[in-house]
Amino acid sequence: MGRAVCQKGVVSLSKSYLFPTYTKFPLTLVKGSKSTLWDDEGKSYLDFMTGLAVCNLGHVPERVKMRVQEQLEQVWHVSNLFHIPAQEELAEKLVTVSCADLVFFCNSGAEANEAAIKCARRYHQRVLGNERYEIITFEQSFHGRTLATLTATGQEKVKDGYLPLPEGFVHARFNDIESVRSSITQQTAAVMLELVQGESGVHLAEPQFVSELAALCKEKDILLIVDEVQTGIGRTGSMFAYEHYGIEPDILTLAKGLASGLPIGAMMGKEKLRDAFSAGSHASTFGGSPVPTAAGLATIETLLDDGLLEQASRAGAYAQDKLRNDLQAYPVIRTVRGLGLLIGIEFTIPVAPVIQQLHLNGLLVLPGGTHVIRFMPSLYVTHAEIDQAVGILGHVLRELDGSANGR
Ligand SMILES: *Cc1c(COP(=O)(O)O)cnc(C)c1O
Repeated sequence: MGRAVCQKGVVSLSKSYLFPTYTKFPLTLVKGSKSTLWDDEGKSYLDFMTGLAVCNLGHVPERVKMRVQEQLEQVWHVSNLFHIPAQEELAEKLVTVSCADLVFFCNSGAEANEAAIKCARRYHQRVLGNERYEIITFEQSFHGRTLATLTATGQEKVKDGYLPLPEGFVHARFNDIESVRSSITQQTAAVMLELVQGESGVHLAEPQFVSELAALCKEKDILLIVDEVQTGIGRTGSMFAYEHYGIEPDILTLAKGLASGLPIGAMMGKEKLRDAFSAGSHASTFGGSPVPTAAGLATIETLLDDGLLEQASRAGAYAQDKLRNDLQAYPVIRTVRGLGLLIGIEFTIPVAPVIQQLHLNGLLVLPGGTHVIRFMPSLYVTHAEIDQAVGILGHVLRELDGSANGR
């Protein structure tokens, strides 16, 4: 499936004019509502990937749609050289629901992490007046695709062919405090991590590691950056994953779920960082634009008013139990793990063919790494939908078993 070619339904492309950066699934999804997506032939799918933890409120959430429509009637773009009310309101809301005091808006997760890296360096170099620039990140991490964030990413596959990489990034072993300790130098400005490594297969940080890491950072004047691009906005059953660990990062980054599918990113930080991002030090033309920030505000209000944090943690516990109970008999299942509704099902075999079968059977899921299937449904997901998804997975595993036994 090297080429993005689709030959059925309303989209009939014999040739695609897109750079072939994506290996596309052979599906064209044209409509969505809540947990359901429809393809261009009218077939429906249960969506357990939510556009990669983006549509946390399901597809086309009513309140967000209304808010976006209102904003579309008013004004679409105003330069950041002027006050933008929706942006101020979303920043205030984000500060209210987090440990951070200040927000910088951008347009994606990579940009939010790029802002975090810049803010950390500038804090040391211009506020504290030292020369620190190094950022410690972790093996198997994922932080984005810009040159700085792919260098921060602890996986070789995103770096291939992009030399030379920017200086100042070192990788430590995840959940290994001694590895962090020995990576610290006079130049260490920050440590950046995902508390649940999503892209590489749903690996959870251990509570003791995280509390030791937070203490170590404090002791050494090293900023702690938590990448919440995938884990934030209710995905793990709390607004942010750091809440599960009883720590407060100096910086956290958001994107995916923040505006229910409109492009947005945010880098949030503690008050002490204010002068690190002084006037003129960083900017983004579209960052914090009226429409995405209006969507972001409605997203967070909906999440809180509908009690979705509690709902997500209940549904996550139910789904993990259900997966373990119903699937433990299959030898290809190694383990099930997760936090809230960010769940990984680890296989003993590569999952790509399994995922293809799941899609054919009407369940949309994504891999995490090569051997893990990620379950990331809408935070509204019902027990019935979870039962249905686990049922489809069971069905596909039985078929696999059958073909493995030569039947
Ligand atoms: C997706 C992701 C990013 C990159 O976000 P983009 O919006 O694709 O740039 C960064 N960090 C984590 C943890 C992610 O899951």
